[in-house]
Amino acid sequence: MKIIMLGAPGAGKGTQAKKIAEKYQIPHISTGDIFRANIKNGTELGKKAKSYMDQGQLVPDELTVDLLMDRVKNEDCKNGYVLDGFPRTIPQAEALEDALNKTGDKIDYAINVDVPDENIINRMSGRRACVKCGATYHLVHIPPKTENICDNCGSELILRDDDKPETVKNRLGVYHDQTQPLIDFYTEKGILKEVDGTQKMEDVFEAITALIN
Ligand code: ADP
Ligand code: AMP
Repeated sequence: MKIIMLGAPGAGKGTQAKKIAEKYQIPHISTGDIFRANIKNGTELGKKAKSYMDQGQLVPDELTVDLLMDRVKNEDCKNGYVLDGFPRTIPQAEALEDALNKTGDKIDYAINVDVPDENIINRMSGRRACVKCGATYHLVHIPPKTENICDNCGSELILRDDDKPETVKNRLGVYHDQTQPLIDFYTEKGILKEVDGTQKMEDVFEAITALIN
């Protein structure tokens, strides 16, 4: 099963993608996580990506598409995957479609996690991410068991640089200009599914599994 998660930054794509990956035993592929790992490791790609990410801009398609295409060729993707944060532009979606067409494959579902802009700032200012394993929490809605400590691996939780309010505004603008058009793109393909992302995390997940089953 191949799934794409759509939605504004902070809508809960990553939170739901991790749960989908676990339930259906498919890899969760987040281009944001891949870029952040490259930044942490000081790679050339990481250096290039960082300047865009810090400003809340998208990393150019030339850098992003090849990265994703290489990742989905891995053996662990043979039964499918859930993509989180890719595609984010129409050219990215077209590149993915072209690559899949070549092998007679297709995306099964594009799930749009719908959350209005007014909730997004709250979601992102409260988001805390584990420095080591990348698990995400929310200070109020999905708190860790011990303040500032990851439930999974015991490492420290931090506010991502690009979750600061001034950057979030840019990211929302970029989302509306460049990523939201994908909703029409996948509606036309007949695979778009909508869920109300303002519900509790468990209820969003239940709605998603109901759509998939
Ligand atoms: P995205 O991957 O779309 O950027 P995340 O999954 O990281 O978003 O979620 C953004 C923030 O909102 C995180 O702090 C997360 O814990 C929190 N969150 C996710 N889903 C919900 C929900 N249904 N209700 C409240 N908070 C949520
Ligand atoms: P995310 O973790 O999905 O919120 O992504 C964090 C940042 O990484 C984004 O604001 C972009 O700068 C960059 N990024 C992640 N995925 C993509 C993508 N598919 N295309 C372009 N930039 C991306």
